Amino acid sequence: MHELFAIFGNPVHHSRSPLMHNLAFKTLGYPGCYTRWRLEEGEMLRETFFRLGLKGINITVPHKEAAFEAADVVEPFAAEVRAVNTLVLEDGKLHGFNTDAPGFYRALQRLGEVRSALIMGAGGTARALSLYLRSRGIDVEVVNRSARRLKWFEAEGFVSHTWEGFEAKAHDVVINTTSAGLEDDALPMPRALLDAALGQTAYAVDVIYGKETPFLKEAKRLNLLTFDGSQMLLQQGIIAFDHFTGHRYTLDRIEAAMRPFLQL
Ligand code: NDP
Repeated sequence: MHELFAIFGNPVHHSRSPLMHNLAFKTLGYPGCYTRWRLEEGEMLRETFFRLGLKGINITVPHKEAAFEAADVVEPFAAEVRAVNTLVLEDGKLHGFNTDAPGFYRALQRLGEVRSALIMGAGGTARALSLYLRSRGIDVEVVNRSARRLKWFEAEGFVSHTWEGFEAKAHDVVINTTSAGLEDDALPMPRALLDAALGQTAYAVDVIYGKETPFLKEAKRLNLLTFDGSQMLLQQGIIAFDHFTGHRYTLDRIEAAMRPFLQL
């Protein structure tokens, strides 16, 4: 009997998660099958999970908070950010995890040693990454276009600025978590500020995938080491797969089975 998995989101037709997980199931010989499900109402998440007879799901925009609410047991980091992107059924209970930030960190470690980071943007992704990176001993500074979203970062004790109050300092990595460049050709900060920040870092990474953003183009022009959001997508998927399959494979073995999806 195969175990059934899915990604819940809205929209969800563009998701590459089914490809990624099915490739790993096939390569590792695990009896699993992964599909996608467009979920309109977040409140229906739990009922839909059980009605479809699923073993586990990933959750994408806009239902990560609904998934947090639907879980019976939530790991501490996911509880802290109130966002769950992985649910697994174990002994009749839904266990919730957030693999986005740990996945990003696993990708970041491949670049080299990172002790300080500048995060551009102050949305949900920036909140998760800032808390997780800090928990791994990385010094985090945040810069955002406008002030409203920065209140949370100030309350959490992060040094944060709007563009007006920002003066670039040296960091090991500059991270773009804004949606600038996703559907337009915008840079995440005015060019002069961005170039000042990129001029004092070794690495530049973007969480956007599927296109090379103006930010990454600029970083490459300056000969920085870079990666885009596809590495974060892959690594969060590896950690989710590990939860789905009960920790029977090493993460490196899952990675070897899953990574070829990037070329598909
Ligand atoms: P949010 O909507 O919560 O936050 C968006 C942020 O971007 C805000 O800080 C906003 O600033 C800023 N912003 C938007 N447009 C611009 C612009 N033109 N110039 C400068 N800043 C801008 O988004 P999320 O945190 O949920 O997602 C952010 C990105 O992360 C998305 O592109 C998403 O696709 C990607 N993502 C990738 C993942 C992966 O696996 N690779 C996983 C999760 C997300 P302000 O406060 O001033 O409005």
